[in-house]
Amino acid sequence: MHLGVLLRLPLALSRAVLAALRGRLGALCWSLAPLYLSLSLPLSLSLPGWRRGPVPSPAAPPPPRRQREQRDEAAPTPTSVNYHFTRQCNYKCGFCFHTAKTSFVLPLEEAKRGLEMLKEAGMEKINFSGGEPFLQDRGEFVGQLVQFCKEELKLPSVSIVSNGSLIRERWFKKYGKYLDILAISCDSFNEEVNVLIGRGQGKKNHVENLHKLRQWCREYAVAFKINSVINRFNVEEDMNEQIMALNPVRWKVFQCLLIEGENSGDDALREAEKFVISDEDFEQFLDRHKDISCLVPESNQKMRDSYLILDEYMRFLNCRNGRKEPSNSILDVGVEAAIKFSGFDEKMFLKRGGKYVWSKADMKLDW
Ligand code: SF4
Repeated sequence: MHLGVLLRLPLALSRAVLAALRGRLGALCWSLAPLYLSLSLPLSLSLPGWRRGPVPSPAAPPPPRRQREQRDEAAPTPTSVNYHFTRQCNYKCGFCFHTAKTSFVLPLEEAKRGLEMLKEAGMEKINFSGGEPFLQDRGEFVGQLVQFCKEELKLPSVSIVSNGSLIRERWFKKYGKYLDILAISCDSFNEEVNVLIGRGQGKKNHVENLHKLRQWCREYAVAFKINSVINRFNVEEDMNEQIMALNPVRWKVFQCLLIEGENSGDDALREAEKFVISDEDFEQFLDRHKDISCLVPESNQKMRDSYLILDEYMRFLNCRNGRKEPSNSILDVGVEAAIKFSGFDEKMFLKRGGKYVWSKADMKLDW
């Protein structure tokens, strides 16, 4: 064989082998293609930074926490409202923090209109306060409001805070069935201390009257509550025995609070500085009464922003700066616009136990 032919033979052979191999590899690639696609597509959708084609967009993330809180704070729900419809009072408590700066009281129909607006905005509990609520029209005004809120608005809870001195049995006969809770203010079981504080009027005995009211509450099926403001004159007192005998559903114990323009400062009608006690003094009082299960303590810190307070014009009062700054009236601008300026701290309201069993139908009381 010619030498040239001999030299080209291995070259031709290797080309033929390579061609055969390429054909096999190509077929193998095509046969693996579906498997590759089925594995790679889901991976590409689930692995971050490795995307193929359009990917469905995820749900919008929630707004940052602070933004959510601000939005919530913007318009809290007026679940529980305290309507101080009058500032007038027949007592002169030295620490009073809602003083008689005006004698204004809304006409009954206007007050009802405002209450209806609050109900529409989510109100479940209304508390009528003052001043002294039973001073206006000898208790008829507050009686009409109580009846309206229970009968017409069907509010789960309707209550009154009063000093108790002007309540008569005929009021219970007429309006008792519409009232869930009556809270009576009593700071001492020593009549001399009551007189010192300013809760006294002539010959009438505040403590004797308290027992009479307790009895009427039992007879007319109204839950009985006691409110006490702990101050320099009663902070040493032991009230265990008397409170247990009266057996209220709730005993609210407040630490005496200074509010500029009400009981402190140049334009105030009271000077409550001499009544103020320290946090330690307050704690000691609470400790002395720790066995009373219905005791609900309220320190200055808890009190300040955790109440929704409406004044005699139906304006929310903002106490955040240590004084009561009014919003516009809900009757002029609506509940939502007014409540934004209330300074109300809904979280503190819940933390201090502001929401409780407040309807007498749910209390299962042994009257
Ligand atoms: S009874 Fe109440 S409203 Fe009247 S002076 Fe005393 S604290 Fe003020």
